[in-house]
Amino acid sequence: ATFDRIEAVEPKIQAYVTVTRELGLKMAREVDEKIARGEDPGPLAGVPVAIKDNMSTAGIRTTCSSKILENYIPPYDATVVEKLKAAGAVFTGKTNLDEFAMGSSTENSRFFPTKNPWDLERVPGGSSGGSAASVAAGEAVVALGSDTGGSIRQPAAFCGIVGLKPTYGAVSRYGLVAFASSLDQIGPFARTVEDAALLLNVIAGHDPKDSTSADIEYPDYLSFLNQDIKGLKIGLPKEYFIDGIDAGVKKAIDDAIKVLESLGAVFEEVSLPHTKYSLPVYYLIAPAEASSNLARYDGVRYGYRDFEAEDVVEMFSRTRAEGFGAEVKRRIMLGTYALSAGYYDAYYLKALKVRTLIKEDFDRAFTKVDLLLTPTTPTPAFKFGEKTSDPVSMYLSDIFTMAVNLAGLPGISVPAGFDGHLPVSFQLIGKPFDEGTLLKVAHAFE
Ligand code: GLN
Repeated sequence: ATFDRIEAVEPKIQAYVTVTRELGLKMAREVDEKIARGEDPGPLAGVPVAIKDNMSTAGIRTTCSSKILENYIPPYDATVVEKLKAAGAVFTGKTNLDEFAMGSSTENSRFFPTKNPWDLERVPGGSSGGSAASVAAGEAVVALGSDTGGSIRQPAAFCGIVGLKPTYGAVSRYGLVAFASSLDQIGPFARTVEDAALLLNVIAGHDPKDSTSADIEYPDYLSFLNQDIKGLKIGLPKEYFIDGIDAGVKKAIDDAIKVLESLGAVFEEVSLPHTKYSLPVYYLIAPAEASSNLARYDGVRYGYRDFEAEDVVEMFSRTRAEGFGAEVKRRIMLGTYALSAGYYDAYYLKALKVRTLIKEDFDRAFTKVDLLLTPTTPTPAFKFGEKTSDPVSMYLSDIFTMAVNLAGLPGISVPAGFDGHLPVSFQLIGKPFDEGTLLKVAHAFE
C-alpha cells in the first residue's frame, strides 16, 4: 500500500531520490516467511521506513543529494541501517535533502526540491525535507533524518509531524556521511510520539564503531508513554519568546502551554543568556568541521571525477568545482578561513569557548527545571525561493534549534496546531540522555 501511495503522490511531492520498491517488497516477504516459520520478526516487522540519503546503504546509491556522490554505491550499511534490517523494517527508499545536509528547505538539493505536502508552493523544511515530507504524505510510516542544527526538528515542524534529535552519542553515526561530526545526530520522524519512541528503541544504543557513541544503559522508550506529568517543571527560556515570532506560532504555543498546565505541568521563566551567540558559533563550528570532512571528495576515492583535466591538481579542483553546489562551497570556504593559521584563535577557538558557555546556560537551567519548551521555528513553512538569495535569512530558520546541537542535548518537535492551513510545532529540550521525559510530555500533550 505504501509503494502504491508513493506511485500516486511522488510526482507531486518528490520526497525520494531513490525508491527501493523491489528491495522493499523482498524485505516484506522475508518478514512474512519469518512469521510463517514461527520466528520473531522484530519490533518493526513490515513497517515501511524511509532513510535520508546521507546514510550508507550497502548496494543502494547514497547521494547526499550531491552531484559529487550522484553514482556512489556504498559497500557497507550504516549501523542504523543494520539495526533497521534486524528489526524487520521494510525500506521504501532514500529521501531527498539539502546537499550534504546543508540547508533548511531542501532547495539546496542538486536534484530537485521536495514539496511540502500541506501546501505544494511551500518548502518542507530541511535539510531532512524528503524524510519529513515522505512521512507527512503517507509515503512512509516512519523515517530517519539527521540533525546538525535543526534538520530533523525544523522539517518535522513544517510538515506537522513528530521529529526527535537524540542526545549526542545516543545513536551511532557510523555510516552517516559526516557534515559536522561534533553536532550530527540521527533521529526518528513519525506521525505519532509512540512511533517515534518505537523507532528510537531500535536505533539507540552503544556502537563500538563510533568513538563518540555513549556506553550507557538505554531505557525502553515506550515505557515513558501514558505517564503522569503532574508537577513536572517546564522552563520557558525568555530569549526564545522574542518579537519576530509569527503570531500564529505564538498562539499555538500559548495554547499548548495551557494544555500542559491543565495536565499538571508547572511553568517557570528561565534565562539562557548566551542564546544570541548560537548562530555565529554554529556557523563557525559547522563549516569548520565540514571543510575538513568534505576534503575526502577529491575525484579519486568517491563518486564524480572530472576527466578533462590535464594533471592531478587540476583534476581535484575541477572535480570539486563541478561536483559541489553553491552552499557547500560557501561552507568549505567559511570553514577553511576560520581554521586557517592566524584566524584559528580569533574564530574557531573563540567559537569553541562560547559553545561551552551556551552549554553551561542549559546546565544552569536544568538545576531549576526538568525540561524546556520553545517554539521549534519562528514561522510556519515558507514559500519556495523566499530565502534562497539571502543565506543568512535561511540560516535564521534554525535559530531555535541550533543551540541544542551545540550543547549536545535531546530535542523533540511536537505538532501543536495550525496557523491557517500550515502546521505549527513546539520544541521540548531535555537533559542529556533524558529523551524519556521528552517523549512522556509529548505523548501526554498528543
Ligand atoms: N540548517 C542548518 C544548516 O544549514 C542545519 C542543517 C542540519 O541540521 N543538517 O547547517
